[in-house]
Amino acid sequence: MTPPPTAHCAPATRRVLLRRAAALGLGATLLAPPLRSFAEAADDFIRGPAVPDQPLERLSPRVAMVYAKDGFPTPENRGMMANVVFVITSAGVVVLDSGASVQIGEMAIRRLRTLTDRPVVAVVNSHYHGDHFLGNDAFVQAFGAGLPIHAHPITREKIQGTAGSMWRSMIEQWTHGASAGTRVVPPNRELNHGSVLRFGDTTLKFHHFGRTHTEADLCVEVVEDRVVYVADLAMNGRIANMDDGSYVGTLKAFDLLERDVPGALWVPGHGKASRSLLAEQRDFFSGIYRNCEAAVKAGEDEAQARRRVLADPRVASQASRTQGWDSNIGKYISLAYLEAEKEAF
Ligand SMILES: [Zn+2]
Repeated sequence: MTPPPTAHCAPATRRVLLRRAAALGLGATLLAPPLRSFAEAADDFIRGPAVPDQPLERLSPRVAMVYAKDGFPTPENRGMMANVVFVITSAGVVVLDSGASVQIGEMAIRRLRTLTDRPVVAVVNSHYHGDHFLGNDAFVQAFGAGLPIHAHPITREKIQGTAGSMWRSMIEQWTHGASAGTRVVPPNRELNHGSVLRFGDTTLKFHHFGRTHTEADLCVEVVEDRVVYVADLAMNGRIANMDDGSYVGTLKAFDLLERDVPGALWVPGHGKASRSLLAEQRDFFSGIYRNCEAAVKAGEDEAQARRRVLADPRVASQASRTQGWDSNIGKYISLAYLEAEKEAF
């Protein structure tokens, strides 16, 4: 069946055409006045507003971050929910995670300019969740389409595939369109466990531990400063999305990180950096996972596991200081219980 002619031009397409016409300066000459104002309105609608400047924190001689105080995207915070980390080297700036939208990336660049005039020479995306890569768009616009964007091969593949567009639309929905106008710019370089990159006076060493927060997370060690960006392996004051993750894998990764980089400053993707971050997160994750493991061994169901977990002081003590607790703790325990069942099988 042939659709009627108007059906070919979906509203989104029409908006894009009007926007292009406006951008080419055709609005004034070719479009009638009512259409021109519609085109202008459409342009506003397509691109979300700028994100206000967020606080900068200096973490070490080379490392600084734009700090996100919120843990989840809302219309009010316009998607500002993840830290954007700068490693300032003598050969330029390396950005570790670029934020959840083009507007957040642009804000991060404005903040960076208060620290240094050096160009951004590389971006690293720690994993394929949208709050860590959707700001890439701003960096390629400012520093060129050839800007190296590094990630684990699976992260690159996922962002090139459905995860890229899925996360873009989810962030747009959660922020009520504040992130609109963001393009998915996937990584163009691949790194793996043990990869080392040198930028002038600075060495970056990459760690990958199999499935942790996802199957593809990279941690970035700034060797000379003994700082490790652990991204979403550990969070501070916020509950993690473990849909793609593993408790067992994450707990193992903490041990290996502490063995390989003892005494490091651990920088999370969400929350404040600290030297005790991994130890605290280990306590919390152990409180969840080890109780589920014990419940599975004792033949208890998920409801019983849940009671064990919530009664554990390592877990209970986190409730009041953790964003997203009530809406996520149930699912969190379910995932741990499922993993413990699978491990016991
Ligand atoms: Zn995240």
